[in-house]
Amino acid sequence: KTFCRDLPKIELHAHLNGSLSRSTMLHLKRFYADSGLEDNTNAFFDEFQIGAGDCRNLSDCFQVFSIAHALTSTPEALAMATTLTLQEFHSDGCCYIELRSTPRNTQYMTKEQYVDTIVHCMQKSSIHLSMLSRLIISINRSYPVSEAEAIADLAIESYKKYPDVVVGMELSGEPTVGKFQDFVPALTRARNAGLKITLHCGEVCNPEEILEMIKFKPGRIGHGTCIHPKLGGTDDTWSALCTSKIPVEVCLTSNVNTKSTPDYESHHFKYLYEAGIPMIICTDDKGVFTTSLSQEYRICAETFSLNQVKVARLALEACQYIFAEDVQKTLKNKVQDFINKYCL
Ligand code: IMP
Repeated sequence: KTFCRDLPKIELHAHLNGSLSRSTMLHLKRFYADSGLEDNTNAFFDEFQIGAGDCRNLSDCFQVFSIAHALTSTPEALAMATTLTLQEFHSDGCCYIELRSTPRNTQYMTKEQYVDTIVHCMQKSSIHLSMLSRLIISINRSYPVSEAEAIADLAIESYKKYPDVVVGMELSGEPTVGKFQDFVPALTRARNAGLKITLHCGEVCNPEEILEMIKFKPGRIGHGTCIHPKLGGTDDTWSALCTSKIPVEVCLTSNVNTKSTPDYESHHFKYLYEAGIPMIICTDDKGVFTTSLSQEYRICAETFSLNQVKVARLALEACQYIFAEDVQKTLKNKVQDFINKYCL
C-alpha cells in the first residue's frame, strides 16, 4: 500500500508557486500577519485549489497563481515557501527535484534576489534532507519578449554563480498567449551558455507550434497533451515526437483537473507508454491540484494496470532525463537498490 510513497522518486516538472500546499499557504498568511505585511488574499484564498469537479478551464487556472504570488513577495516568505515545499516533496519519498520558478521583481525584492533566495534554500535543504534539489528558471510566454530576454540574462548569470544548483531554463505560462518563435533567441542564448531547456509543449492544440518546438530539440517537453492524432495532434506531430524521442514530463492530475484531458483513462500516458516514448511522472502544481508525486504514481499504476516492477521502472528511467548529469548515476543506484530489495 505504501509502495508508491516508499519508492525513491524523481520530480522534474513542479512550479514552485503552484506547488504550495494549503498548509504552506496558511503558514505564509500567518507570516504576513505577524510581519504587518499587507495580505489581500482573504476574499479568494479558497479559490487556489482546483479539484476534479471544478468548472474552471485551463485558461481560468492561470488566475490562481496570483494568490500564491501575493504570499511570496518578500525574500523571507519566498524562502519559507521554498523550504516547506522541498520538505513536502522529501516527506513524499522524492529523492531528486528540479523545481522551477519565474523570477519576479516585487515591492520587496529584485529578480536577482528572487533567484538567490531559492538557491540558498536549496543549498541549505541539501544539508538536512536526503533529497537533491536543482533550479530551473522559468520564462512566462504571456510576458513581453524583453522580459524573457532579461530572464535569460539572469539565468545565464545564475548558472555561472551557482553551477551546482541552477540547471536549466523553461518556457511556460498560458499556452494560448504568445508565440514560441519570439522566445527562441532567449532560449538559444541560455542553451548556448550551458543551460538545459524544457518547453511546455502541446498543452493546447497547436500542431504548427508543436512541430517548431520539437525541431528546437529541447532536453524535455512538459505535458504533450495534444500531440497524438486522437487527442488534437496530427500524424506529423506524433511522428515528430516518436522520432525525436524527447522525454515528456507527464502530469496526470493537472491535465484532468484543467480539463485538458477528459479523464485519467483517456490520458495520453497510454499512447506514450505503448510507443516507448521516454516519460517522467510529475506533479506540475501539487498545491493547486491537491496531489503529490506518490499519488501521481499511484493513479498511473491503477489507471493503466502497472505492476510494482513497471511502476518502479518509471522512476528508474526518469533518472536518465534529469538535467544534473553528475548525479544521475547515484540516483539510478538508489532506485535500483530499492527495486532489488522490494521488487525482485
Ligand atoms: P512560479 O513560476 O513559481 O511563479 O509558478 C507559477 C507559474 O508557473 C504560473 O504563473 C505559470 O506561468 C506557470 N505554470 C504553472 N502551471 C502551468 C501549466 O500547467 N502550464 C503552463 N504554465 C504553468
